[in-house]
Amino acid sequence: MHQPAISHLAAEDPQIAGLIEAEAQRQFEKIRMIASENYVSTAVLEATGTVLTNKYSEGYAGKRYYEGQQFVDQIETLAIERAKELFGVDHANVQPYSGSPANLAVYLAFLKPGDTVMGMALPHGGHLTHGHAVSATGKWFNATHYGVEAETGRVDMNKVREAALEHRPKLLIAGGTAIPRTIDFPAFAEIAQEIGAILLADIAHIAGLIAGGAHPSPAGYADVISTTTHKTLRGPRGAMLMCKEEHAKALDRAVFPGLQGGPHNHTTAGIAVALREASTDAFKAYAHQVVANAQALAAALTERGFDLVSGGTDNHLILADLTPKGIAGKPAAQALDRAGIELNYNTVPFDPRKPFDPSGIRLGTAGLTTRGLTPEQMPQVAQWMDEAIVAAVKDDGAELDRIAGEVSDLLSGYPMPGYASE
Ligand SMILES: *Cc1c(COP(=O)(O)O)cnc(C)c1O
Repeated sequence: MHQPAISHLAAEDPQIAGLIEAEAQRQFEKIRMIASENYVSTAVLEATGTVLTNKYSEGYAGKRYYEGQQFVDQIETLAIERAKELFGVDHANVQPYSGSPANLAVYLAFLKPGDTVMGMALPHGGHLTHGHAVSATGKWFNATHYGVEAETGRVDMNKVREAALEHRPKLLIAGGTAIPRTIDFPAFAEIAQEIGAILLADIAHIAGLIAGGAHPSPAGYADVISTTTHKTLRGPRGAMLMCKEEHAKALDRAVFPGLQGGPHNHTTAGIAVALREASTDAFKAYAHQVVANAQALAAALTERGFDLVSGGTDNHLILADLTPKGIAGKPAAQALDRAGIELNYNTVPFDPRKPFDPSGIRLGTAGLTTRGLTPEQMPQVAQWMDEAIVAAVKDDGAELDRIAGEVSDLLSGYPMPGYASE
């Protein structure tokens, strides 16, 4: 059953309540390895499901456009103070609705349409909002990209510097959605300084690892840090922008009134709760365990003949090219889902296949670590993945169902926040 209980919802709208209950059970029974996903605490769930959703609060604390902000101002201020403390930054804005609008606010704050930006190429691990052609950021700005090296699967910072000197972007973006290796923020900062660019560190995926001390921080190097709050940081769906004091006004104005109306106060409260959780010793241990699990899983997969981009991982994320396994990413991801292992198909660098039917899969350990799984269990997870992929190649549905049963048996011993077994 969903926790907190949804009895009012069940009485009023059994159709939606039933689907939410089914989703809660699905999340309980599967090894959830979509690298951008996690399980929030019951406290975060409670904060996001409150009467704060009733309130309009356009503006910022002390400077609102509507009355009745006695408590919302305090909640937003707490979220901001906790973000500043946790990430060691001068200024934080907790209002962006999600990671994509947060990034767009950075463009609005510092650029004019047509200006040049440089980010990591999407097929190499970048994000849509880093100037990809189909995104507003690629349509309205002159986007150029760097990528990883074919032999190493890693970014060569000398090549980034050469490209930056050639294209002279006004905005340089570090970070992405499918990067299994440590991001060299000091090297990016040096390049940005050399060409007079604003450096944006987009830490959406790794924010929780940074908060927990399991990945170096861009604080003190990047002009602006953008992050989602719902990936490794384990908060509600939302985002934050953080910066040095000199950019505070420009960023705040870009978020409101530049791009958004009223902030989602229930989300702000959830972010505040998650930031408090992320400042604990337990969360530090969690962040390091996420990386330990990813490295143990990467080692076990390599032993089973999986071809990992860059040969392994430094963080929560693993990218595997399935070509040697004789299957493409999409049918593999579908078979794994049936086997109780949820991840996504993904382009690998220099992928000869199409983005909607690529060669690889992407997976992460943020969710299974929240459930309490440890490095000792990662060889078993790798074995199930390998068996499921062999079964997929042979079109053996019964074998996939057998694995799903074993997965759900294992997970029944690991509690999930947001769910209580009956
Ligand atoms: C997830 C992600 C985003 C976008 O976040 P949404 O909340 O999905 O809009 C932006 N940048 C990076 C690097 C991401 O991984």
